[in-house]
Amino acid sequence: MHPELRREWWVAVAIITIAGLLGALAGAPLAGVAAGLGLVVILLLRKLARLHGWLARGRGSPIPELGGLWDEIIREAHRQDRDSARHKERLTGLFDRLQAAASVMPDAMVVLTRHDVIEWANPPAERLLGLRVERDIGARIVHLVRDPVFGDYLAAGDYREPLILNGPVEPMAVALQIIPFGANEKLVMARDITHVRQLEEMRQHFVADVSHELRTPLTVLQGFLETFADLFEDQEGEVRSSIALMREQVERMRRLVDDLLALSRLETTPARAHDETVDMGTLLKGLTDIAIVLGADRGQRVEVEGCAANLVGNLEELRSAFTNLVQNAVRHTPAGGLIRLTWRVDAGEGRFAVADTGEGIAERHIPFLTQRFYRVDSGRSRAAGGTGLGLAIVAKVLLRHDARLTVESALGRGSTFTCVFPSSRIKPPADPSPPSPPPV
Ligand code: ADP
Repeated sequence: MHPELRREWWVAVAIITIAGLLGALAGAPLAGVAAGLGLVVILLLRKLARLHGWLARGRGSPIPELGGLWDEIIREAHRQDRDSARHKERLTGLFDRLQAAASVMPDAMVVLTRHDVIEWANPPAERLLGLRVERDIGARIVHLVRDPVFGDYLAAGDYREPLILNGPVEPMAVALQIIPFGANEKLVMARDITHVRQLEEMRQHFVADVSHELRTPLTVLQGFLETFADLFEDQEGEVRSSIALMREQVERMRRLVDDLLALSRLETTPARAHDETVDMGTLLKGLTDIAIVLGADRGQRVEVEGCAANLVGNLEELRSAFTNLVQNAVRHTPAGGLIRLTWRVDAGEGRFAVADTGEGIAERHIPFLTQRFYRVDSGRSRAAGGTGLGLAIVAKVLLRHDARLTVESALGRGSTFTCVFPSSRIKPPADPSPPSPPPV
């Protein structure tokens, strides 16, 4: 027991005993004990009342002298009070400094409650998101950042990729990222990427313009080379082989220019503009024909398996992406190999796959295959007629169709490239025969 508590205890016992003895002398010992108890209670209540008065007057008022354990309790409470005040002061200082740092940041920061109400925002949020910091605290962010794309992004809850938005004034572009924290609260960060977007647009236009400008001279060159080839047809030796080499190189340049133009069209035209129901049966048939024609010389076998579902998308883009996969399979599969095309709907997702029994790809290369000009073996790819842009085109087309590319491959055993389309892109086959009415 605490010594002061023991002392208090003995004082109370002494008071009650003395009162009991005095009562016994007067012939009423119980009344004496009761009076002693009452006195102890009155003393305790007085001290409690003084303690309460001190607490009610506030921490700054003089500390009352209550003696013994009471003083100890008050001193301890006072010390804890001082500590928590200091702690609070430190936290307030830290918060003020953080707020000052956030205010001078070039990026916008907005703290949202679990109900997406703005709790705090730094000044750049005014310029980048069109908020008015003082006025908008307490408002729901979707009422202020009105782009529906933002509302969808916020509601979807998948914040792994940043969202690119148009800023409040033209031509500002903003990259917005949401970081969930605490109990379903969110930190919204927005960065000005106007300059980056302008540079990217300049790059896209430059590539498109250069490719376009190269087309005409290439066509002229190709024409002359054909004439030369006819002229020197009968000649043996260097001239003829040089012309053949030139024709081959011009053809390669033409394919490169075509692929560059295809890529820049995919980057610059709005997605979904020409979406339609794509008849997968017809598309699959066309792809099979391409595989058979391309693989005929090499004795490759082609197998096809399709289902009746169709796809919603852009026919030309899908044809170009799937053709690239078929061409790759043919190119990278040796004579006698098997190319297998499949189209099926699995767990609501549409899967178009091109599998081959070719050379395969080492696992370390797989994450980079869709980068422009990435080649596992550049010499072999060029010799086989690849531009290094095929899978970049495939990736761009799939992105525009909310789809993804998966690659499974084993060195020496073959590869499977699968385009996975979400259920929103699948058109189930129309029921050919409506259920007949039950017999009467
Ligand atoms: P390329 O025009 O060179 O084929 P792609 O972008 O289509 O360019 O493909 C990138 C690289 O991926 C190719 O150079 C090749 O090394 C590899 N690749 C693509 N498809 C296959 C496949 N079916 N089998 C093996 N390697 C492949």
